[in-house]
Amino acid sequence: MNSRAFARSSAITMLDSLPTIYLDFTFQTAMARFIRSRRALNPSQPLALPSRPTRNNINLREREKGPNTTRFSRPVQPHEPRHPPSMLSHNAPTDSATVSTRGARRWEQGHPWIYRSDVLRKPDLPAGAVNVHDERGRSLGVALWSPTSEIALRLLDRNPDARLDESWWRTRLAAAISRRQPLAKSANAYRLVHGEGDFCPSLICDQYDRWLVIQLMSAGIEQYRREIVDALSSLVEPLGILARNDVHLRAKEGLSTDVELLAGDVPREIEVFEHGTRYLAAPWDGQKTGAFLDQRENRVAAAARAHGRALDCFSYHGSFAIHLAARADIVVALDVSAEALRRAARNCELNGLTNVELVEANAFEFLKTQQRNRTRFDTIVLDPPAFAKTKASVPSAIRGYKEINLRAMRLLSPGGSLFSASCSFHLTIPLFLEMLRSAAADSGRRLAIRELRTQPLDHPGILNIPETTYLKSAVLEAVD
Ligand code: SAH
Repeated sequence: MNSRAFARSSAITMLDSLPTIYLDFTFQTAMARFIRSRRALNPSQPLALPSRPTRNNINLREREKGPNTTRFSRPVQPHEPRHPPSMLSHNAPTDSATVSTRGARRWEQGHPWIYRSDVLRKPDLPAGAVNVHDERGRSLGVALWSPTSEIALRLLDRNPDARLDESWWRTRLAAAISRRQPLAKSANAYRLVHGEGDFCPSLICDQYDRWLVIQLMSAGIEQYRREIVDALSSLVEPLGILARNDVHLRAKEGLSTDVELLAGDVPREIEVFEHGTRYLAAPWDGQKTGAFLDQRENRVAAAARAHGRALDCFSYHGSFAIHLAARADIVVALDVSAEALRRAARNCELNGLTNVELVEANAFEFLKTQQRNRTRFDTIVLDPPAFAKTKASVPSAIRGYKEINLRAMRLLSPGGSLFSASCSFHLTIPLFLEMLRSAAADSGRRLAIRELRTQPLDHPGILNIPETTYLKSAVLEAVD
């Protein structure tokens, strides 16, 4: 796999993002005013999530004011005076990058990334924010600069004079958080910031009840760790903020990969509610930031058709299973990980469920055996891990997806429903549908497409930033 493909595939697994191109400055200004007026009225009231109980009141900001843990110099602010070019010696430090016409065009077309190969003149800064110019010297805006990454520049602000202080971050993050408001009535765990999908390139922030888990996925964004923590603290007033920076992608950025408490305290397990169910998230050591928040509404969609004997394949902590169990007679929750199933068992207890059977098995083997035994299920959920981690692995991934879907289709009883998902960025929506079509053709079954689904509100997939979109799913019904 080439390094760009890697960067893209990795970007997917965690990130999510959006640049300033689309940023409505009027809205931003209004938002800042709104924040100021709210704080003037009631300085202790949380801004973003007013329905959440206000817990007083660890001073997260003070705690975070400790020594900066990053190893780069402070970011140069675009508003600072700088020497005219004629005064610079050849090796003089500079906070600006010059990009090729092809690089500039990417920003024009709404994509926030400029690759290393399109940076004609690199900044001398180790990492941070830089001004970006086109070949004719026109200023294009302010971007995060990652010196070791294939994704060299990530657009932050079209305004070359933007000052990226805490207030700038507060305004940007407040806009993202406000877009989640509709979710607060049905769940207390959702993504607050989906990287490029929310104009906050390479930044992830998930909320679990009164705690936040963040991921800083580039050398550039790492420079703003303190401003981001301060801004989130003042907007959400969490009881603690954890950095789940134990992601491989950070190594590509020359950053450490670790889990670090950034503010307050964060428990090992957090009980969250989701559309009438409860489950335990594992922020310190669970997958992603502690749970698969991106499937939240899909669990409801799958459960809406659940009946009879149900199978939740690739169950992890049983999150689909507990939704299915409300309607099905019996649910088999299957995962290869015994540890995941232990938490699934506790989640079943938490919901007072007695009709979920936990099975530790390899899904491929299990489905094959069930087919051999002519078992039937009325409801099946397939939510496998990403089989296609790179572009090169797409063909073998498709074979894997097809195999489990084909077997699941054959196991369906007449009138049964299959919820099938893929979280591989490289398996695009057309490839996913073609895989399902091909499985259906081989299955000998007649399957109606009841729903095609993409990402939920808190994981915005931006049409012209393909890397923000990775999750797709279908609800199928056996009509033969
Ligand atoms: N459906 C879950 C998320 C699933 S993540 C939710 O909504 O929360 C993928 C899960 O697949 C992981 O728990 C992993 O342990 C499991 N897994 C990976 N390969 C597997 C295999 N071959 N057979 C069964 N489970 C597998």
